[in-house]
Amino acid sequence: STLLVAEGLTKSYGRTPALRGADVEVHAGEILAVTGASGSGKSTLLHCLAGIVHPDAGAVAYEGTRLAGLDEERLSELRRTDFGIVFQFGQLIPELSALDNVALPLLLAGRPRAAARAEADAWLERFGVRGQRELRAGEMSGGQAQRVALARALVTEPKIVFADEPTGALDSLATEQVLASLVHTTRETHTAVVLVTHEAQVAAYADREVRLQDGVVQDAFGAMPSGSS
Ligand code: ADP
Ligand code: ADP
Repeated sequence: STLLVAEGLTKSYGRTPALRGADVEVHAGEILAVTGASGSGKSTLLHCLAGIVHPDAGAVAYEGTRLAGLDEERLSELRRTDFGIVFQFGQLIPELSALDNVALPLLLAGRPRAAARAEADAWLERFGVRGQRELRAGEMSGGQAQRVALARALVTEPKIVFADEPTGALDSLATEQVLASLVHTTRETHTAVVLVTHEAQVAAYADREVRLQDGVVQDAFGAMPSGSS
């Protein structure tokens, strides 16, 4: 089934066009890679899909509801319950241990402390970083910190995770480890993943790939859709 539909997304920053009529669908449970050269609009597309950036034209609908029709309160509620977000640098809270970072979204959702910590522990285990549970971000390797960030994004069991170059700062081995645990875990939970990357190594993990060029999605043959120039 289709979770998210974006049609005709257009967005400029001043005179710089970032998206020029991009169409994308995300299906439940799939891993979708968004690829393209630097500056092709990948991050902007991801931010539009996640409701962080409002497009100048076009629309995003999540489970049939247009994001533009939601007020800020309902949008942030949706982000808390149904969306998970991970960036290139996981942005863990540096003062907190790995365990407390992952438990935090559950505490904010009102879960009792003991239950939140037990669940966070299980998610660290899934991502192979339970041994690092008491460490802070600065005491872990980059790959470990990104696995903790993914555990934090998934602990609330969102329907869809948006990941913007989540392995962009990692070496090849750490990239494999992070992606393998992400794929394994989201297959189990049937969570959709939108994975922005410019690396073929990363795109190879996806079920499907959407290629952006100059803010437009290319068709399956790699050509520009007719009508754009
Ligand atoms: P990608 O993720 O593929 O590198 P982006 O979506 O980050 O592409 O950027 C697309 C274009 O929009 C680029 O030309 C970029 O410089 C520009 N851009 C992105 N964000 C901003 C911003 N906040 N202000 C101005 N220009 C931006
Ligand atoms: P990415 O390719 O992942 O977007 P960037 O380094 O291009 O990474 O962008 C990092 C941040 O800077 C983003 O928030 C983006 O929106 C913003 N940004 C990108 N290009 C520009 C720009 N030309 N002017 C201002 N902000 C920009």
